[in-house]
Amino acid sequence: MIVMKFGGTSVESAAAIRRVASIVKARLERQPVVVVSAMGKTTNKLLAMATDAVEGRKEQALEQLRALRDFHIAEAAPLVASSETPEFEVLIHEHFQELGELLSGLAVLGELTPRSVDAISSYGERLSSRIVALAFRALGIDALHADSRRLIVTDKRHTQAAPLYPQTYARLSAEIAPPARAGKVVVMGGFISGSEDGVTTTLGRGGSDFTAAIVGAGVSAEEIQIWTDVDGMMTADPNSVPEARPLKVISFAEAAELAYFGAKVLHPATVLPAVEKNIPVLILNSRRPEAPGTRIISEAQPCKNPVKSIACKRRITVVNIHSTRMLMAHGFLRRIFEVFDRYETPVDMIATSEVSVSATIDNTRRLAEIRTELEQFSSVSVESDRAIISLVGGNIRYTAGIGARVFAALRPVNVLMISQGGSQWNLSLVVDEADLPQAVRLLHEEFFHELDPAVFA
Ligand code: ADP
Ligand code: ASP
Ligand code: MG
Repeated sequence: MIVMKFGGTSVESAAAIRRVASIVKARLERQPVVVVSAMGKTTNKLLAMATDAVEGRKEQALEQLRALRDFHIAEAAPLVASSETPEFEVLIHEHFQELGELLSGLAVLGELTPRSVDAISSYGERLSSRIVALAFRALGIDALHADSRRLIVTDKRHTQAAPLYPQTYARLSAEIAPPARAGKVVVMGGFISGSEDGVTTTLGRGGSDFTAAIVGAGVSAEEIQIWTDVDGMMTADPNSVPEARPLKVISFAEAAELAYFGAKVLHPATVLPAVEKNIPVLILNSRRPEAPGTRIISEAQPCKNPVKSIACKRRITVVNIHSTRMLMAHGFLRRIFEVFDRYETPVDMIATSEVSVSATIDNTRRLAEIRTELEQFSSVSVESDRAIISLVGGNIRYTAGIGARVFAALRPVNVLMISQGGSQWNLSLVVDEADLPQAVRLLHEEFFHELDPAVFA
């Protein structure tokens, strides 16, 4: 059994869904379970409508909803068999009617809770998964739809829910594995899930990759395939570095680090369930299915290049905390991290000296409260519009002179913070966001002008 996950661009149109069907058809003997994202940019559009509705622009929200409905009908209707057209029409009618009611409700309430965000954003995958199942059947695949909101059981941390693994794995192995073994192709929505009492939750933006990994672990798949719009994990985001090259192979630890530090090609949590069950993950291009893609494996492979890839995270805020009162006193770091913890704000990178600490965060929702508390024992300054650049590679720690190469390459750029250690796979730098494109280009030239053919394609 394999799990095949197709991202938003891979199901963005009738033509794209036909390509997906032919990719799946060519792999039927491997008993695929299919996980799909919302079509194209649907999730962003749903969230924009919700914001419009609560901020008093209800008409605009409903206008956008009609456009989204027209888009789904235009792309999906040609894919549905005439015998199933009535079912398709009911599906569209019911889902968009409910969405209209939800948006009107939000407009009255004027408040967007995390629970409502999940309710609204779930419609993208609810629609796409049913549409893809209908399209598969019309194209001769024996497909079956399954509702991820019942199968992926989570806690109630809306917009960032965590799976309850025992319940989820029990349902997946009872309800997904048997039909897959019997030759049916089960199609599920990624990203969406449900609490034990049946309230819709989601796994966080980009969470369909995570769904694929959970399903893979739950059905003990032999492989998880993440089908996207690029040739695999690359030496940098090809959208910002056109010279970026694909990697043939990368380790789980390196892939996790890259995902966490901004390589959007994979959701950060994805690899965890796969690592635990030692299931290989492949990243493949649905527009070029013949390309070999990237294989994510448990052990790093020897490689002449110390750096495997460069990731970046934009819109980072640096919080500088300084306290002369804490000179020679203990407990300074504990007090600082307790504050971030109390306001559920993850810290990505830190740099410390005896009496000052700089910490980077990307979620500034609770920053005002954090600042007020920190100011009870220190002076605080905040810098916004920063970016983190992470050089990732299992050999970084064994290679002398990396720091010298980084700083030589970045001569024209002001480096504001650095950190190496932690995972040992990663050397991270903070720069002004305005310097990011130049900095990434310079580092890419420095570390990838020669490539080890065993690792890079
Ligand atoms: P999907 O909709 O298939 O989940 P995403 O947009 O989430 O696709 O992820 C694919 C995108 O990730 C690519 O189009 C690319 O711009 C971006 N990306 C960022 N860093 C990397 C990288 N190191 N390698 C490949 N793609 C990357
Ligand atoms: N549709 C969701 C998102 O855009 C999940 C995903 O595509 O992975 O975040
Ligand atoms: Mg994605």
